[in-house]
Amino acid sequence: MYMGACQCISLHMKGFPAVDIPRIFNVTESAHRIHNPFTPDKFATLGEALRLEAGTSVLDLGSGSGEMLCTWARDHGIVGTGIDMSRLFSEQAKHRAEELGVADRVTFIHANAAGHVADEKVDVAACVGATWIGGGVAGTIALLAKSLRPGGIILVGEPYWRVWPTEEIARGCGAGAVADFLALPDLIASFGKLDYDVVEMVLANQDGWDRYEAAKWFTMRRWLDANPDDDFAAEVRAKLTSEPWRYATYTRDYLGWGVFALMARA
Ligand code: SAH
Repeated sequence: MYMGACQCISLHMKGFPAVDIPRIFNVTESAHRIHNPFTPDKFATLGEALRLEAGTSVLDLGSGSGEMLCTWARDHGIVGTGIDMSRLFSEQAKHRAEELGVADRVTFIHANAAGHVADEKVDVAACVGATWIGGGVAGTIALLAKSLRPGGIILVGEPYWRVWPTEEIARGCGAGAVADFLALPDLIASFGKLDYDVVEMVLANQDGWDRYEAAKWFTMRRWLDANPDDDFAAEVRAKLTSEPWRYATYTRDYLGWGVFALMARA
């Protein structure tokens, strides 16, 4: 989960376009299994809450390192496809599937998921912390709906304001403006306005934020110690110096995050 659109398409190796996300995320989140404020127990709670059955098909746009699909395949026997634009995270997802013995049930594709529609309709279509893929929450729901069977479930992971911020605080949280996110009641109401029932939700908490954010600090420090002469070292150093204070001042108190399960009103 990070804020804002990210389109970073570089040309690497003559004639081969290499799609990837900005390098900073591939450094700071290289040791994360979950790239948002959910902890493993939250994904387990969500999987149980959704009453997943063996054989349930799940599409995950912005699947990161694949922890949701891999653990649900192990624990509930789902089958799934994840699409992610980070080459590193996509590789990690494949390794995780092998590690958990579910590589026959889940597939990870390294690609831009913008506009992606599944060939066969799925039971659950998810975008957990990457709603810029569809140009925002409403656009992402519309995109996911194209892959969903009638009566299926859409999962959206999205931040919301826990405490209403000033514009300065919103920017401190990494948002472009206060208007980038809603308060929880308004976010829930916004799904209703799109004619969806909110049928379940699991919310992150501050311990989960700490796991997501503080884990980056240690990863950055270890990366700096291993790569002192890298061109990127100054940027990573500046971030490690400022991030703990920024996070404790802004994100930890002001920003909430949750996954919402939606079903179209018939
Ligand atoms: N859902 C995952 C990852 C959330 S972080 C989890 O819960 O762990 C957001 C993810 O979106 C990152 O893995 C990033 O690589 C990916 N991403 C960003 N832009 C994308 C795009 N256009 N298409 C596919 N994936 C994208």
